[in-house]
Amino acid sequence: MAKNKKKIVILGGGFAGLECTKKLEEHFQNDPEIEIVLVSEDNFLLFTPMLPQVASGMIETRHIVMPIRTIIKKAIFYEGRIKNIDPYGKIVNLWGSRNKRGISLHYDFLVVALGSETNFFGMSDLEKNAYQMKTLNDAVLVRNRIIDMLEQAENETDPILKKSLLTFVIVGGGFAGIETAGEIMDLLLDVRKYYPNIEREDIRVTVLEALPNILPGFSESLAKFAQEKLTEHGIEIKLQTAVTSFDGDEVMIKKLDTENKDAVDDSKISSIQSKTVIWTAGVTPVNTIKRSLFKTDKGKIIVDDYLEVAEFPGVFAVGDCALFLDPKTNRPFAPTAQIAEAQAKVAANNLHAMIKNKEKTKFGYESKGQMAIIGKRTGIASFLGMNIHGLLAWILWRNVYLSKIPTWDKRFRVFLDWAADMLFDRDISRLKFMRREPEKEYQVLDEVDDVW
Ligand SMILES: Cc1cc2nc3c(=O)[nH]c(=O)nc-3n(C[C@H](O)[C@H](O)[C@H](O)COP(=O)(O)OP(=O)(O)OC[C@H]3O[C@@H](n4cnc5c(N)ncnc54)[C@H](O)[C@@H]3O)c2cc1C
Repeated sequence: MAKNKKKIVILGGGFAGLECTKKLEEHFQNDPEIEIVLVSEDNFLLFTPMLPQVASGMIETRHIVMPIRTIIKKAIFYEGRIKNIDPYGKIVNLWGSRNKRGISLHYDFLVVALGSETNFFGMSDLEKNAYQMKTLNDAVLVRNRIIDMLEQAENETDPILKKSLLTFVIVGGGFAGIETAGEIMDLLLDVRKYYPNIEREDIRVTVLEALPNILPGFSESLAKFAQEKLTEHGIEIKLQTAVTSFDGDEVMIKKLDTENKDAVDDSKISSIQSKTVIWTAGVTPVNTIKRSLFKTDKGKIIVDDYLEVAEFPGVFAVGDCALFLDPKTNRPFAPTAQIAEAQAKVAANNLHAMIKNKEKTKFGYESKGQMAIIGKRTGIASFLGMNIHGLLAWILWRNVYLSKIPTWDKRFRVFLDWAADMLFDRDISRLKFMRREPEKEYQVLDEVDDVW
């Protein structure tokens, strides 16, 4: 090992962490003085834009995850959950468990890319009773839940109970919520033929959105088009509507008063009888960040123009966990994979510049466009300054996102899944996975704090 070897540690194997690792590998491929280490809880990259299609059974579960070891070249990978970061001692500690040692990693340079988790805004009943759409586990649970509800509703004789079993409420009208609603409706309509006692009118899919429009970030006309198409497809959209509670049987909702936000008006409160709520209404950085020594705002790490943490030179934060204000709007950038990857590239370039005593560059971002699919072979896209919708946008979405999957093997498998979906019905077998318990941090047993 070279004496003055410098170690760059990247935390998080999502879009930002992996992109940064790849870029650093390019910069330092033949440099024996630089060691690159990537740490992540899962040993794969989750391709989130296709998560709703896993929930609808269109794509096989494992086809939207790419093992990190098949993508990285020079970096050393640790599968582990980060316990804490000590930016003064330049140490990252990993949790131990019955089967793995708790270890500590020293770093010279650090990139924090730990992403985000679902934000329930402190509503514990929703956290307990609602489904989510953030991890692979979430998508599998949602799919199983839908099939389970169909199985129960098919033989249910009480019409009220039957209706509530077949009512699916999606909270949040952003990317994740709208794409999930479209996919769920497609699944329900596709498989209905196997459930002869379920009529089209028995099925209800509702999207609740607190803002006055869905898909913020898209132009008004595209968002309107999406809303019209979803409504034609039978999806009910309730705007300016907030969820106040969900006990597992009934969703309490409140129509928001834009004029007087504090007004208490009982006529604006109503309920939906439903057994299944899918919460996609916001994300927040993971706890490891929130309880870190970094300066944060709404849980996100505050970074400077170079994506560096001002108090700790050599430490960068990128992706969903970093707070960088869009100079055009003076508001934080939306949490998207596109921005996460763009930031990762700049952070890697700046690290290279720092190590080679060159000038760092400021982060700037010009959107290349946005797209979403909304079910029934329909999409919307703003691309190269054009607004496209309908089948063309849906085809564009498929082409663009297929090309973004980082490995040929998974690209091919997703392509085959799409082709099979054109020819065959969806699989309605329900795998009996259990609902995940709220995550506990790993138990620390005889922790051996080696510094590796
Ligand atoms: C359903 C859905 C659809 C979406 N669709 C789009 C889309 O179409 N286009 C788009 O641009 N964006 C989309 N997004 C948003 C996009 O997924 C995120 O903005 C992006 O993943 C952010 O990248 P990141 O690297 O910051 O975080 P992540 O991709 O979340 O990666 C964070 C990584 O850190 C790891 N990690 C977290 N905590 C720990 C810990 N304590 N220890 C170890 N590892 C840890 C995680 O396991 C993960 O690997 C979608 C999101 C969802 C949920």
